[in-house]
Amino acid sequence: MCGIVGYIGPRDAYPIVIEGLKRLEYRGYDSAGIALYDGTDLKVAKTKGKVSELEKCVENEITKTGNLGIGHTRWATHGVPNDVNSHPHVSNSGDLVIIHNGIIENYESLKKELINRGYTFKSDTDTEVLINLIEEVKKKEKVKLGKAVQIALNQVVGAYAIAVFDKNKPEEVVVARLGSPLAVGIGEDEFFIASDASPFIEYTKNAIYLEDEEMAIIRFHKKIKVRKIKNDAEVPANIQELQLNLEQIEKGGYEHFMLKEIHEQPKAIVDTYRGRLLRDEAIIKMAGIEDNMKKFLNANRIIIVACGTSWHAGLVAEYIFEDLARIPVEVEYASEFRYRNPVITENDVLIAISQSGETADTLAAIKMAKSKGAFVFGVCNVVGSSIARESDAGAYTHAGPEIGVASTKAFTTQITVLSLIALRLARAKGTISSSDFRRYLLEMEMIPNKIEKALESDAHIRVVSDIYKDASNFLYLGRGYNFPVALEGALKLKEISYIHAEGYPAAEMKHGPIALIDENMPIVVIATRAEHYDKVVSNIQEIKSRKGKIIGVITEGDTIVRELADHVIEVPDTIEALSPLLTTIPLQLLSYHIAVMLNKNVDQPRNLAKSVTVE
Ligand code: GLU
Repeated sequence: MCGIVGYIGPRDAYPIVIEGLKRLEYRGYDSAGIALYDGTDLKVAKTKGKVSELEKCVENEITKTGNLGIGHTRWATHGVPNDVNSHPHVSNSGDLVIIHNGIIENYESLKKELINRGYTFKSDTDTEVLINLIEEVKKKEKVKLGKAVQIALNQVVGAYAIAVFDKNKPEEVVVARLGSPLAVGIGEDEFFIASDASPFIEYTKNAIYLEDEEMAIIRFHKKIKVRKIKNDAEVPANIQELQLNLEQIEKGGYEHFMLKEIHEQPKAIVDTYRGRLLRDEAIIKMAGIEDNMKKFLNANRIIIVACGTSWHAGLVAEYIFEDLARIPVEVEYASEFRYRNPVITENDVLIAISQSGETADTLAAIKMAKSKGAFVFGVCNVVGSSIARESDAGAYTHAGPEIGVASTKAFTTQITVLSLIALRLARAKGTISSSDFRRYLLEMEMIPNKIEKALESDAHIRVVSDIYKDASNFLYLGRGYNFPVALEGALKLKEISYIHAEGYPAAEMKHGPIALIDENMPIVVIATRAEHYDKVVSNIQEIKSRKGKIIGVITEGDTIVRELADHVIEVPDTIEALSPLLTTIPLQLLSYHIAVMLNKNVDQPRNLAKSVTVE
């Protein structure tokens, strides 16, 4: 995910693009860049860091003049954040320039072909491949830029929102979209391009939101033409009048980033498994695993280190690794592990999980494990982060920037990555049959739709939240795969509503927490249909006998818990090992609504920070 901005018209493009990038920084901020046509030539400035760094870089490197400009604020997916990998990217001839939000999945094969034809590459990005592919098509087919973009995009697999121009035809910009958002603001004889409308809201309220598989050719002094990427057919331009204000747009119309990120989970999970889960071929492909398969298969055990929510994702992974791949797993708090002189051997594999990739204790645990010869595999969201660099290999979660301090989509995408790894290893070890493997792949692909379904309970969860918002304690119970979800549900509530909450394995309740239960205690029980369902039902009976208030998270259509519980929230049925991806959703929404009702600062809760870079 990244932010893209462009302008063509009578005004100076520079201030519009720079201010637009600042508004889009929430979408990514590891590097930034701008390309301007200054009346005679193409000028490009780009740098690692935030838009403020770019402004300094422009002061030193290029003039700010020109009526045509495109800019980018990056959230790296291919290639670490550095000056060279930053966008815009220029084609080999120096004529064409591009900004891109998304992932070109088949960039490797396209790159090989282009190298065979004599192209060279400066960056590690997929984007530089795309601009050179467009150049190659344009030359070979002797077509205009718009046609070249259309032909090239038909060869591309992946997701994109792009803006491209040719310095020899500076009255035209070509844009296209598939899977990443792109809006074109339409002013009086001027056009604005952006990932959302925030960069141009003060200039025009008229905009076209391109649909997937649409492209547009934007010409100064002319009308915009919208076409289908597939067959080049012209489609009517659907100009809408914007009603939103700036803040609403940045948060995509949601009141808080946390809520936006909760709702982004279906898409984030697709981004996580895109290009890795290949159901038609019945394979899982992850470079970091393939290249190090022996390390995993010969491992004595896997040690997972993490903190906070990532630690909960690690606990879910413990169940799935042991269950499917039959590899012994230990899950450790990084802060404890690093200081307790653990026994680590060269046959251990350490998986470190961190959204930011900067968590100080996790980083220290990695260094210690490496010094003792263990193989370290990082699971991070932020590309090029310290943990990603320190690890021997790894897998990114590709969740896009997470702004809300309480982690939501980072958690579910971590579970997704770890499940894919477990399945891949299980297949390699032969501990899963090929029919079960296929069943998992199919089910994993259905998870995003099932999350959409789970999100439909939002209004009902708000009603439940209103009933219990004044409780001073909550208990969360779950068994097996859903025990870590109980921990995560309790953590979410504590973090943003400041209500004391504890997560427990349902059966452990009898060893202490049951003493707390009375008619004032809300108890969230994850009671989906699973192997130990009957045992959870017995736990619910025990709570009921002590007058506790039961909020059950149940499988769609379940009637047994529905009769026993005070309230139920349904989630779709799935394979038990994947159920945390669904049962987590209502718990996120419950904590969110309670915190909003209590007037708490949901996105920036007191005393917390998004990435804990101190121990
Ligand atoms: N895949 C491109 C890159 O890594 C674009 C990423 C983005 O959307 O910011 O540079």
